[in-house]
Amino acid sequence: MSAAIIDGKAAAERLRGRVAALVPDFATKAGRQPGLTVVLVGEDPASAVYVRAKGKATEAAGMKSDTIRLPAGTGQDELLDLVRALNADASVDGILVQLPLPAQINENAVIATIDPNKDVDGFHPVNAGRLATGLYGFVPCTPLGCLMLLKEQLGDLAGREAVVIGRSNIVGKPMAQLLLGESCTVTIAHSKTRDLPAVVRRADIVVAAVGRPEMVKADWIKPGAAVIDVGINRIDAGEGKTRLVGDVAFDEVAQVAGAITPVPGGVGPMTIAVLLRNTLVAAHRNAGVPLDKGTI
Ligand code: NDP
Repeated sequence: MSAAIIDGKAAAERLRGRVAALVPDFATKAGRQPGLTVVLVGEDPASAVYVRAKGKATEAAGMKSDTIRLPAGTGQDELLDLVRALNADASVDGILVQLPLPAQINENAVIATIDPNKDVDGFHPVNAGRLATGLYGFVPCTPLGCLMLLKEQLGDLAGREAVVIGRSNIVGKPMAQLLLGESCTVTIAHSKTRDLPAVVRRADIVVAAVGRPEMVKADWIKPGAAVIDVGINRIDAGEGKTRLVGDVAFDEVAQVAGAITPVPGGVGPMTIAVLLRNTLVAAHRNAGVPLDKGTI
């Protein structure tokens, strides 16, 4: 069998198009554009690339994009004061503090200071609690993007066995909550899981969010299962070059799975598209403009 390739790039473009199409209506009703402010502390090169990409995508969707760059030596109090000022600024709908932060700053303190209604990354404990209790809030972008891909590919997910490998607050745990919300039977695996291949073999849906290159092998996969690869790992490709691979051994798993996301071009592009979606939702909520969420 050869798996269907889930085209995350195309799905992300469609979502970005749907978001952009709704911006003019919001602007007419609210008298302003939706606004996303991204805060970058320090000069981590990967973070700088992500932040530039987020800014470009925000503008391309017709939204207001601000990037605040602070030096690596910025103190925690200074950053918290900035977040409080952004909370109070009515032209800012979404606040995203790019992680990781330098060692002198406590990430949890920063996340907890962001107004939950502007927390478009969905990392605030209030939003994690809303997700866990089935209330309406912001859901982290990467797992929500994974769910969108799964639903586009499979339709109704109810009753399916899902195994999420990884239990981070950013990917694994919210992914498991989302799948539970779709009435899947969910297992969360992690580094202490016994006989991981046997656990994964039960799954109709596998989500790998580990950070270990090509760890998930073909003989772990139930024939026909849908495999979502969140991992982004840069490995040595010889001759001084590197290449990106996921947490799934793509070539061999694609022979067994029913559907699979590639790396790159799978989950990655969905993350920014969902960020735009969350910002648009935040703008409607903050401005008191109704939004039919079924449209995005
Ligand atoms: P974390 O490092 O926070 O979490 C990794 C998880 O994997 C942990 O729960 C850990 O278990 C588990 N794990 C580690 N080794 C094993 C193992 N041998 N067997 C089973 N489980 C294991 O990573 P993130 O969740 O932040 O990210 C995961 C991957 O996804 C990374 O490659 C990251 O780059 C990528 N990513 C991609 C995004 C995208 O936009 N596509 C966005 C975010 C992340 P334990 O808790 O027991 O330590």
